[in-house]
Amino acid sequence: MPRPIKWRRVCKMPHCTNFGPENGIHNDIIKMTVDEYETIRLIDLEGLTQEQCANQMEVARTTTQSIYTNARKKLAECIVNGLSLVIEGGEYRICECKERCGGQCCRHKYCNEQCPKEIKKGDESNE
Ligand SMILES: [Zn+2]
Repeated sequence: MPRPIKWRRVCKMPHCTNFGPENGIHNDIIKMTVDEYETIRLIDLEGLTQEQCANQMEVARTTTQSIYTNARKKLAECIVNGLSLVIEGGEYRICECKERCGGQCCRHKYCNEQCPKEIKKGDESNE
C-alpha cells in the first residue's frame, strides 16, 4: 500500500524559482522542492528552531530535520560546484488565510478575516 502523503504547509511561496551561476561552467540543475525551500526560509532566514518550523509546517520534528538537511545539501552543492537551482514540486500545500496559522513569517500575517488576496496553489505571481 502506498504511503499516504502528508502535505507540508508552506506559508510563503518563493518569488524566484530559478537560480544559476553567472560564471558557471556546469549546466547541471539541482531541484529543490518547495517544502525544502520553506525550511530554509523559516530556519535560516526567519530564525525559527526546527521545532517551531515543524509546528508551522505541520510535520514531525524529525521530518523537518531531514527536509532541512536535504535542502542545505542542495544549496551547498550549488555554490560549491556552480550548479543551477530550480525550486518546484514537493509534498506541500499553501497555507490559507482562514487557517490563522499564527506563524510570524506567514504571508497572511497581516490579512483581515476575509483575505482579499487569497491565492490558490500554483498562482502566486501577483502576491
Ligand atoms: Zn501560514
